[in-house]
Formats: sequence, structure tokens, C-alpha cells
Amino acid sequence: MTMSKLHYSIEAADLHAHLFRITLTIPAPTAGQTVSLPVWIPGSYLVREFSKNLQQLSARQGRRTAAISQLDKCTWQIDAKPGQPLTLRYEVYAFDASVRTAWLDARRGFFNGTSLCLRVHGQEAQPHQLELLAVQGQPDWQAATGLSPLKVSKKGFGLYQAADYDELVDCPVELGNFWSGSFVACGIPHRFVVAGALPSFDGARLLADTQKICETEIRFWHGSGPQAGRKAPHNNYLFMLNAVDDGYGGLEHRNSTALICSRRDLPRLGQPHTGEGYTTLLGLISHEYFHTWNVKQLRPDAFARYDYTRENYTPLLWFFEGFTSYWDDLLLRRAGLIDDATYLKLLGKTIHQVAQTPGRHVQTVAQASFDAWVKYYRQDENTPNATVSYYGKGALVALCLDLSLRAEGHTLDALMRGLWQRCQAGPMREQDVLDELQALTGRSWQKELQAWVHSTAELPLARLLEAQGIRIHAEPGNFAQHLGLRHADANGSVQVKAVLRGSAAEQAGLAAGDEWLGLEVGARGQLGHWRVNKLSDVPELLGKERKAVALVSRDKQLLRLPLVVPQQSTVWRLEALSGRSSGWPAI
Ligand SMILES: [Zn+2]
Repeated sequence: MTMSKLHYSIEAADLHAHLFRITLTIPAPTAGQTVSLPVWIPGSYLVREFSKNLQQLSARQGRRTAAISQLDKCTWQIDAKPGQPLTLRYEVYAFDASVRTAWLDARRGFFNGTSLCLRVHGQEAQPHQLELLAVQGQPDWQAATGLSPLKVSKKGFGLYQAADYDELVDCPVELGNFWSGSFVACGIPHRFVVAGALPSFDGARLLADTQKICETEIRFWHGSGPQAGRKAPHNNYLFMLNAVDDGYGGLEHRNSTALICSRRDLPRLGQPHTGEGYTTLLGLISHEYFHTWNVKQLRPDAFARYDYTRENYTPLLWFFEGFTSYWDDLLLRRAGLIDDATYLKLLGKTIHQVAQTPGRHVQTVAQASFDAWVKYYRQDENTPNATVSYYGKGALVALCLDLSLRAEGHTLDALMRGLWQRCQAGPMREQDVLDELQALTGRSWQKELQAWVHSTAELPLARLLEAQGIRIHAEPGNFAQHLGLRHADANGSVQVKAVLRGSAAEQAGLAAGDEWLGLEVGARGQLGHWRVNKLSDVPELLGKERKAVALVSRDKQLLRLPLVVPQQSTVWRLEALSGRSSGWPAI
């Protein structure tokens, strides 16, 4: 067989060894052709070094073995001669259950092109073909992907095509004996595949609710007219959901998304009510689908062309992740899938989480965006003290902007649609947000964006919510919040995970990694000596006493730490006042 296009043949070669085998044919290589594997996957801002899973690379031209020299951690140069097809063979180890890499075992397979497909330097703009080979010994397996099929079987194996390398690696592939359903939203065909679901899974419910989300979002961006679906950036869409015992996550792609949820969060047959877990799953679906517009098309100017070899910095994740986080739950409300009370509960949670992050006084949300590669994506015990989530605070910036615009007779809806037009569904700078706000309202919003995005000042949430007839209500927090620590009760003691800046736990000298073993009640421990098995033991032992000595083990040394417990801490909850006139959040 002769091939005129770049061609990747993917074989699930050894399920038990978790190995994919890839054969890459380059019809017209250059002399000394270089190839490389990406170090990151767009949408997940961490250098993941996918090349660590690539092995057994070999190269042939006709009958000749072509020599390979490795140039760096992820780049190889092949001693190829021009004018003759070059064939590379290699294996990729696939045993990461997340949505970012690749997985293969006897139950299912999954991969992103960034893990399996070497980039052929200089030929990235050419069409790329992907051939999925049927899996030996698994006659029931199917394949699903957002790639355009050229010649595929009923089960989805065969030949697919991408216009360029970017598209190839933006269309992950699911393999296995999965559940599959479909629906049409505003004329656009959508497919939903679910791996790992229990027999009690209510697929019809998931399809109906997802359809509502998709229709709401297509109309959000393109209006309610009959042409809305034709203006959308995608003409088909695939949801790939992997249901596991315990997990959560998603990654957006141009016409698909890979999702992970806990099995207990799936809707169940005969249970028509919407539980908290299912609401979370719908929020995830809403979030990733919204990214089809906001980050895959409208995107940071730094992502105009992805650089697969290194970090791609942008200060704008507060907009692309934060605003998407604001819209994900709000559009569930508008789709009629949750009520006002549930929406306000979710929003209250976001407000509380940001308020519980001392790092909001340390980094602005723009700095947090830029630093995502080394901070948000490399979380450790210091994360809450050093940075702020651009998801959480970014969503609250969107809220402040929406409510401020509403106070002046405008909406954030109009801003989003205006940006879509202004940037022609392409790269965007912060200046475009300012320009569009000016065009929309006739005044400058420089001062607001400066304060909310480029300073660590508190957001004017209470004032803006109050104007909508919604009050931020303070409630006493739990004991861990009093102390300002994050912990786990395990192995019969309290394991300290993080100590928040300025907290009572920090003042006592507690540190992440400490094992809290006992409590002496009273300033000198004169009121009793007790073993502590879980954190909730402590307030019970203290009673009305505020002073104590904490006995902790650190590096096998026992420490006595004087502790003063504060009177209380605060949790934020939103409360709608009766008789309020505003239609927000429903409209
Ligand atoms: Zn996101």
C-alpha cells in the first residue's frame, strides 16, 4: 500500500502490558527529518513529559534501517533520505487513568494524540491520517473519536483524517465495550459514550439533560433563531465519560471532551430526583461544552499557535477558566436543570472556597493564571497560602462584572457575544475585554478590572449581591476552619495536611505532615491529658476551655505545642431575600 499522507496506525498491542504500538509513515521526509512528542496537552497547564512513556523507537526506509539520534528529552532526528517514504515504529506505555494521557487494559483503552502521535517537524500543517486497528481478542470493543471518519467500520475502527497536527492531537479516542447514545441539539448531532457504568445507569436521563445544556449553550452564543446551530463552531460533538469508583475531571477539545466521574454520580433508573453528585456531573458537562467557544475558539493570544515543546504562558486563565466556571452552573439554572436555591448554594460554595484561601492576598488572579504551570498544577501544602484559584476567583470576577453590568442595564451575556464577534472567534487579549466593555456601556472599566484582576483587594461581592436581593449570610464554620488547618483523620490520629496563613494552627506551630496524637486541656495542660483519634475529639475534650497543649509527632519527635482556639470562624452562605425583583440568576 502506498500512502501519500502522514499516516499513524494505532494498535492496542498488549492489553496486559498496557502498550500501544504505533506505526508512523512519513511519505516525504526531509533529509535528517526530526520528530518530537509534546511535553504538555492543551487545556492542562503542566509539563507532563509524555515522552517518558515512549519506547522502542525504530526507523526504516525501504529495506534500510535508518539511524536515529535523540536530540533532547522528546526530540529525535532520523537519518532519512528525501524522496522515499520513512516508517517509524514505537510503543507507548498507557496506564494513566486521567483524561490527559493514555490508558490501556483488558477493560478499555483511551488516548490523546499528544501521548501517542509524534509530531513530524515541518509537516504540521499537512493532513494527518489516523488508522485505528481492531483490537485482537476483543470482538465487542468499539472506537469513538471526534476525528472525521474516512473509511471506518460500524464499530468505529478504520481510517480517520485530521486537517493538521493540531486537530489530530485535539481529538482523543475511546476504545472498549462502552454504552453509547445520541441526540441532536439545534441541528448538531451529539454522541455520548460512557465506560464503566453500572446496569442501573439511566442513560436516557443523561442524554435528555445533556441535550438541554447543549441547546442552552448554543443559543447563548448564537441566539435563539433557527440558524443558531449553523453558526456554532462544531458540526458534531462527542462526550466521552469514564465512570470510576472515585474520580472527577474533564478536558475540553474542539468537538469532544473527555470526562471522569464517580459511578455514584451517574443518574440511576427509578431515581428521578437530582442528587448533589449528579448536579456536579451536569456542571462538569456544562463547563467542558462551554469551552468549545471559550478557550478552544475564543482563546488567549498566547494560544494562537500552541508550542508543544514548552510552557505556554497566559495571564488570562481567570477569563477562560474563571468565566467558564461562572457560566457552567448559571447555564444549568437557565436550562432549568437546577433551581435558584441550588444555584445560590453552589455560588456560596465558591465564595467560601476563595475566602478560605489566604493566597488571595498574595497573588492576583492574573498572576495565578500565569503561574498555573508551577503553582495551581503543582499543588502542595503551601498552595492555599501562595496562590488563588483562577477558577474560583475568576468565577467571582465574572459574577462582579455581570452584576455591575446589570446595575447599568447590560449583561455579561452581551459581553461574551461581543467578544466572540470582536475577536472573530479567535485569539483574544485583555485589551479586547476592555474595548468591548467600553463599546457595550460607553464607559471605561479599567478601574474595575484593575482592582478585581490585577490587585489582591477583596471583591465587592456583598454590595453587588445585595443589589440583586441576595445577602451573604455568615454561619459558624467547623472546628478545622476555626483552627485554620486541613487534615485527614487516619490511622487513629489526626494527619495535618496544610496550615493556613495567620491561623491559630500556625500560631501554635502545627505544620503539614504532623501527626496530632493528644491533647492536654488548659494553658499548661493542667485540666486533663487525652489521646486524640480524630479532630472532632478536640472540641469535645476542650468544652468551654480555649487553651490547651497539642501533642504532636514530627519526624518521630514528640512536640508540645501551646494552642489557643479562636471563638469561631465563618462560612458564607447566600440567602435570597423575600420579595426581590431581580430575575437573576434565572434570566
Ligand atoms: Zn475548564
